[in-house]
Amino acid sequence: MIPGQFNYHRPTTVGEASRLLSTLGTEARPLAGGHSLIPMMKLRLATPEHLVDLQGIEGLRGIRREGGRIVVGAMTTQHDLLASSEIAQSLPILHETALLIADPQVRYRGTIGGNVANGDPGNDMPALMMTLGATYRLEGPTGTRGVPAADFYQGAYFTALEQGEILTSVSIPLPAAGHGYAYEKLKRKVGDYATAAAAVILTRAGGRVVSCAIGLTNLSEKPLLATEAAQAVIGTSLDEATLKKAATAAQAIMSPAADARGPVEYRKHVGGVMVVRALQRAAGRAA
Ligand SMILES: Cc1cc2nc3c(=O)[nH]c(=O)nc-3n(C[C@H](O)[C@H](O)[C@H](O)COP(=O)(O)OP(=O)(O)OC[C@H]3O[C@@H](n4cnc5c(N)ncnc54)[C@H](O)[C@@H]3O)c2cc1C
Repeated sequence: MIPGQFNYHRPTTVGEASRLLSTLGTEARPLAGGHSLIPMMKLRLATPEHLVDLQGIEGLRGIRREGGRIVVGAMTTQHDLLASSEIAQSLPILHETALLIADPQVRYRGTIGGNVANGDPGNDMPALMMTLGATYRLEGPTGTRGVPAADFYQGAYFTALEQGEILTSVSIPLPAAGHGYAYEKLKRKVGDYATAAAAVILTRAGGRVVSCAIGLTNLSEKPLLATEAAQAVIGTSLDEATLKKAATAAQAIMSPAADARGPVEYRKHVGGVMVVRALQRAAGRAA
């Protein structure tokens, strides 16, 4: 339970952090809240020789509105998200999801940047960001680029981040007024990662679904967008047959690991249940 030796760096600008990461190479890792990286180091599943701490960089923390988008700085903690009235009003699904992550102790330290950059299929924010159509801002030695969350995840712990790049913010388009939302998460106990979870954002008019996006957490080696399942509910009143069709379409793209949270068939089954519950709750909340 004691990490191996490492060198500690505390840059004060993104440029300095990026230069350090580029120069030190693959043995260097950014450190944000440390609530994924440090446990992995304690278990010797990660053995970086250099930690580049992002805590000393000003301007990476905070929530602001930019036109029709909410921009969240990478070092904004999960607690900051929960304390924000802007998030509660404009992006209530982000508030709901943050509240389902771990416990207050973890949420005081864990950051949105660390959660989405980590690449762990068990993290809750990545599938939500895909559902919301968010874009990640990455800054590195060759400049700045925006990568849609939907294109960011390549496999377990593999992302679009290049050596030396730092994720500096997450930009989220505001969902339509009157949208319905839900993040349904099944976990073995309070504070646990998801056995299966589903995020839904939808709009309704005249009792029928007009638009819908569905994201899935911990049901594959990377977060998933259940596009066919979402398509199946558009134009419907979300009757029983449609809900079943959506669950079946979502289950068709799930490939969870068999682990302490259950065998594959069980996790796919409860994955379908999460999709149905999230659709029903989102529909009930839609204006
Ligand atoms: C007991 C426990 C329960 C938990 N339960 C959940 C849960 O239910 N759901 C959930 O989603 N999470 C859970 N977590 C994880 C927690 O949310 C982490 O805080 C989060 O995954 C990582 O955020 P961090 O700021 O701590 O990042 P760190 O641990 O510091 O970093 C994580 C990884 O991301 C990289 N990184 C960090 N920031 C950046 C950046 N800005 N740019 C580029 N790379 C970066 C790091 O190099 C590292 O590889 C749990 C953690 C614990 C300890």
